[in-house]
Amino acid sequence: MLKERKCPECRGIIKPGQTELKYELEKMSVSIKNVPASVCMKCGHSFLDGHIAEDVNRLVNRVTEDLNSFTKTHPQVGERHREVAIAV
Ligand SMILES: [Zn+2]
Repeated sequence: MLKERKCPECRGIIKPGQTELKYELEKMSVSIKNVPASVCMKCGHSFLDGHIAEDVNRLVNRVTEDLNSFTKTHPQVGERHREVAIAV
């Protein structure tokens, strides 16, 4: 069992949970839902494990590349406020 962790912000108890991450990129915003994270029960602050943060970064990079090539071939798709939501 993991040792009980305390939130560095408020000293609340941290428990395994899920969070939603948002990335504001140059031309679009990407939100990723249901990301496994440690969440403070008191203030709601969430903490990602190192390897999950890496996976998420890779995912965001890939989505960004895919979207860039997609919007190049489909320039008629909304010029601004592109938003992509991913649920994992
Ligand atoms: Zn907290």
